[in-house]
Amino acid sequence: MPGLYSVKPGTMVVVPVNKPASKKVYIETYGCQMNEYDSGLVQSILESAGYTRVHRFQEADWIMLNTCAIREKAHEKIYNRLRSMEGERGRNKAHIGILGCMAQNLGDELFAAGLPIDLLAGPDSYRQLPDLMAGINGQPQQTVSLLQLSRTETYSDIYPLQSEGPLAFTTIMRGCDNFCSFCVVPYTRGRERSRSPEPILHEIRKLIAEQDVQEVTLLGQNVNSYSFADFNFTTLCERILNETAIKRLRFTSPHPKDFPLELLELMAGSDRFCSQIHLPLQSGSSAVLARMRREYTRADFLQLVDRIRHTIPQVNLSTDVIVGFCGETEAEFQETMDCMREIRFDMAYMFHYSERKHTGAWKKMPDDVAGSVKLRRLQELIELQNSIALERNQSLVGRTFEVLAERPSKRDARQLMGRTAGGKSVVFAPICGPDQAVADGIGRFYTVQIAGATSATLHGHMAGITANQAE
Ligand code: SF4
Repeated sequence: MPGLYSVKPGTMVVVPVNKPASKKVYIETYGCQMNEYDSGLVQSILESAGYTRVHRFQEADWIMLNTCAIREKAHEKIYNRLRSMEGERGRNKAHIGILGCMAQNLGDELFAAGLPIDLLAGPDSYRQLPDLMAGINGQPQQTVSLLQLSRTETYSDIYPLQSEGPLAFTTIMRGCDNFCSFCVVPYTRGRERSRSPEPILHEIRKLIAEQDVQEVTLLGQNVNSYSFADFNFTTLCERILNETAIKRLRFTSPHPKDFPLELLELMAGSDRFCSQIHLPLQSGSSAVLARMRREYTRADFLQLVDRIRHTIPQVNLSTDVIVGFCGETEAEFQETMDCMREIRFDMAYMFHYSERKHTGAWKKMPDDVAGSVKLRRLQELIELQNSIALERNQSLVGRTFEVLAERPSKRDARQLMGRTAGGKSVVFAPICGPDQAVADGIGRFYTVQIAGATSATLHGHMAGITANQAE
C-alpha cells in the first residue's frame, strides 16, 4: 500500500503481516503504573512478532513512546522528547510510534504538529501493532493511526514482560465509567471492563514461579468497580489470597464512592493483604466535589476514613488532591486544607488543575482560577502535607516493621530500600555474611527498627529476619 495514508479513528487497517527479521524496538514509558504495565504488554506482543527490545533508542528500528495525557505538562514532555530524538532518528532512520493516552486524546492532530511521528496507537489497539509496523517498515513517508476504543479488550490472554525484582503489577480492569469532570481517562482509556479472574490468577502464579515475585499490586482506574460474572473486587482478592502463594497484595486505586465494608474486613483479617489504601480525595469542599462529579461529599469521605481506621487501625492512607479547580474560591480551598489537617494522610499526590480537552469541565466550566493563585494554593498544600507526613513518620521512630527489600538505596549502595506493608519507604543497612553482597538481599523480608524519619522516608537498622524470609 504505497504512499501516505492516515486512518480515521474507528477504522480497521488490514496490512499484510511480514514478521521482521530481528527488528529492534525501544520503549519509553510516561505516566502511571497502568502505562508501565501496558508497555510490558506491548513488549510481549512485539517480541512474539519477532522484535527485540533494546535499551538505547539510538540502536532501535522503532522507538515507541507510551504516553500520558493527564496534565498539559505530560504533553509538553513528549513534544520535547520527540524534538530531542529527531536528529538521532535521522541517522538511524528509526520510526517513531506514540502509544497510549496522548495518542488517543490528540489523535491525528499530532501528525500535523511537525513532529517526527510515524504511528499512533491508542490503549486498546496494541494487538494490531505488529501489522501496523510491518506496513510502515522501511517506508519513510508513511504514517498510520489506530485509535479505536473497545468495550471488551482486556488483553486477558497476554502476559506483560515486567522488569526483574520482587514487585509486580497485574491489571484487573481497564477504562472508567465515572466521567469525573476534570478527568480525561474515560476518553483516552474508554469504558470500564473487567478481566476474567482465571488469567489474573494465572499471571500472579506465573510471576511467583518465574520471577520470584513477592508482592503484587492490582491495577485499575477504579478497582472496586471490578465485576466479572459472579466476582466483585472483594471476592477476586479473596481468591488471589486463597489460590496463590503471593506474600503481599496491594491495589490501586479505589473510588471512595463505592468502598465495600467486606473488603476492609478481608484486609483486616489477612497479614498478606497490605494495610495501605490510596483513597483519592480530590477536594475537601462538597461544592467543588459536586462540580468535579465525584459523587461523594466531604462528610461521606470523612465517614469512610473513620470506618477504614476503625476496621484496620494500622492502615496507612494516601490520596490525590487537585487545587484550583474551576470556580474554586479561597474558602473552598481552605476546606481542603482543613480536611487534610483532619485526616492526616501519610502521603499525597498534589496537583493544580490543568484543563484537559474533551472532559466535562472543558466543555462546561471556565478554567477561571488564576495560574498564580493555583501555584500559591498548591505550595500551601504541599507545605501542610509535608509537615503532617513528617510528624506521622517521626511517630514511628523506635518501632519495628517487616520490610521487603526492593533495590539498593540510591544514595548509598551499602544500604537497601524497601517498603513496609503500609507502603512506607525504609532505607536500612542489611547485615551481610562474608560472601554476600548487599544486592543479594533484594526480594528478602527483613525486620527493621526505625531510627529516624523524614517526610518521605524512614531510616532504620536491621533487627532480624522475618518469618517470610525463612520460607
Ligand atoms: S474515577 Fe474519575 S478520576 Fe478516576 S479515572 Fe475515572 S474519571 Fe478519572
